[in-house]
Amino acid sequence: MAEDATLERQRIRAARSQAMFREVNERIVELSRSWSAEPLFVCECESTDCAETISVTADEYEAVRSDPGCFFVALGHNVLAVEETVSSTDRYLVVRKLGQGHDVAVEFDPRRADGHSADGYSADGYSADGYSADGHSADGHSADSD
Ligand SMILES: [Zn+2]
Repeated sequence: MAEDATLERQRIRAARSQAMFREVNERIVELSRSWSAEPLFVCECESTDCAETISVTADEYEAVRSDPGCFFVALGHNVLAVEETVSSTDRYLVVRKLGQGHDVAVEFDPRRADGHSADGYSADGYSADGYSADGHSADGHSADSD
């Protein structure tokens, strides 16, 4: 049981990080409507140090967003304990959260119709500055991976 609790905590923590990256990507997709180039999205893996960017078409992006329990991550950035891989391309993997992590992912869905927004992630409370202060930096991709 203790191990299960630890695993669920890991899943919840991962899903919260990933929900944060999803918020960033929702902004990117919003801004990209006025760009002619294909947008680059941030990797939605659980590592807050990850600085990978992924090229995803608008259709592909919408397909992932249609399931609030799913995220897209760079190849090899999936974590078996917290998510299952549901599809893959040569640029990214689509993962679906497991256990309580899935509940968190759905709860934090930025497109929920009922307008619920979780603490600190509401559209108006979010600031790009606060996000980068959280430790997501371009040169921060170190140590813990591989
Ligand atoms: Zn990543």
